[in-house]
Amino acid sequence: MNKLLQATGRYLKTIGRLFWHNYCLCCNCETSEEDEYFCPDCWSKIGFCLVDSYCNRCGREISVFGKLPGGCAKCENESFYFDSIACAGIYKSPLRELILQFKLADKTRLLPILTDFIQKAIYRTDFYDIVDYIVPVPLHWRKRFQRGFNQSELIAKNLKISSMLFSNDIVKVRETPSQTAVSFEARRKNLEGAFAVRKGHNFDGKNVCLIDDVKTTGATLNECAKVLKEAGAGKVFGLVLAVAGQEKY
Ligand SMILES: [Zn+2]
Ligand SMILES: [Zn+2]
Repeated sequence: MNKLLQATGRYLKTIGRLFWHNYCLCCNCETSEEDEYFCPDCWSKIGFCLVDSYCNRCGREISVFGKLPGGCAKCENESFYFDSIACAGIYKSPLRELILQFKLADKTRLLPILTDFIQKAIYRTDFYDIVDYIVPVPLHWRKRFQRGFNQSELIAKNLKISSMLFSNDIVKVRETPSQTAVSFEARRKNLEGAFAVRKGHNFDGKNVCLIDDVKTTGATLNECAKVLKEAGAGKVFGLVLAVAGQEKY
């Protein structure tokens, strides 16, 4: 009898697993079959992080009325090497936690949905049909070795845009202190000479879209764009999951 009960218990557990295997990737609560990735509550919170009105020069969230010919009030006096920037959202909770989780722990389950966010963001830009190369912002080899992967490269490779080719011909040749709260100018100095293009690259005369997970001061994108332009690239765009640093640096 005991054995029969045990067997029945195991059977029910298996059935249960078959029917209730969905968990919200954000809050970990059990979700129904129809909920994709997140529970309805988390979907609505994530919805508040995703934006479609932002400054296409610096990525900061602004209303359509805040757009100026030279960007927005916060960036009109800043100068960048990248021509334009696109973002899926703002770096705030819970999108921030998802990005950190993706980067530090759970790259596999979150990759499709984060790629989807960024793919939708690029379709909304006015540059998506002129990009030749999708290029991830590189990590220094030591950091990549420690983490086991480059989060931006995973997203870039996962994007399905037939007109764009993937390239990782920009590399980080020097380790730099991790991005703590410093100004754009201090970051820019820290990053000088940190990136280089590989010999035999194909960037000459081509338009490049750099992919990164988070834009904070913009100094990383800026330095990569500078190196790409020195290598002959035409236009260079930035595409990120989230923009942090809404304040002026
Ligand atoms: Zn949830
Ligand atoms: Zn701006």
